[in-house]
Amino acid sequence: MTKYLDYKLEGKRAIVTGGGTGIGEACAVELAKGGASVALFGRREGPLQNVLEKCRAYSAAMAVPMDVSDEKSVAEAVSKVIGDFGGVDILINNAGIDRKVEVGEFRFEKYFGTESAEEYMKYLAVNALGHYLMNNAVIPYMRENHFGRIVNISSVLALSGFYSTPPYTASKGASLTQTKAYAQRYGRDGITVNAILPGMIDTPMKADSPPEEYDMVKSMTPLGRVGQPLDVAKLALFLCQEDLFITGEGISVTGGA
Ligand code: NAD
Repeated sequence: MTKYLDYKLEGKRAIVTGGGTGIGEACAVELAKGGASVALFGRREGPLQNVLEKCRAYSAAMAVPMDVSDEKSVAEAVSKVIGDFGGVDILINNAGIDRKVEVGEFRFEKYFGTESAEEYMKYLAVNALGHYLMNNAVIPYMRENHFGRIVNISSVLALSGFYSTPPYTASKGASLTQTKAYAQRYGRDGITVNAILPGMIDTPMKADSPPEEYDMVKSMTPLGRVGQPLDVAKLALFLCQEDLFITGEGISVTGGA
């Protein structure tokens, strides 16, 4: 098992949204390995149950089907965690949606500017409003303990604009600036709020991307490969450690691309 420096995760209570797949799964399992109790939030019961078993090999865990873009669903899900775990110390705002593509199609080339106004708002509802609703639901409990670690999974596209469609990029930019706003507001309450900006990561979100996209990213990447979910989870755990003097930052995980 990977041994980290002592991040003092033992006994901490964590929520990971989108915890049933990809980056969320990796964050949840690594937090559990570190001794944190983990609540997996996500839309679909099946993937959550699969990750639940993996987490329970190391620590206490629960699965809560919910929708981060729905205020009532967020409130009910967080209250289940408070009921079972007694509080929340860590929130990984990871749930997100990207443009669905036909197998083998490039998002940037084929779909740029094709979303309707209604579709555009769906990206904001999950990728930005979802963080807002989750933050507001857990922060009162974090303030009670004068401790909280919030990690928002944004995207390197928040800085570069390349390589997706405008609503996705806009939602990730919103996630980054919102990170800074929450960091400013709640630093005095012992709560840190940071964003991770992944480059292309090999997860179900990229399952239909063409091999040429993987090759292109690999060729642009000094470290010579496409990222894996664990590459992101390692930074997430670092940002969840007890003794942390970093807040309001957006840190890229791109292999240097
Ligand atoms: P993924 O599709 O495996 O994970 C997204 C998860 O979010 C899924 O489990 C999904 O069920 C969940 N989800 C979506 N909408 C939800 C909602 N309304 N309520 C609750 N859960 C919801 O893909 P991933 O790559 O692991 O994505 C995780 C995060 O990383 C996303 O925010 C994504 O935008 C971001 N990201 C991914 C990449 C990449 O290349 N894979 C790059 C940069 C950022």
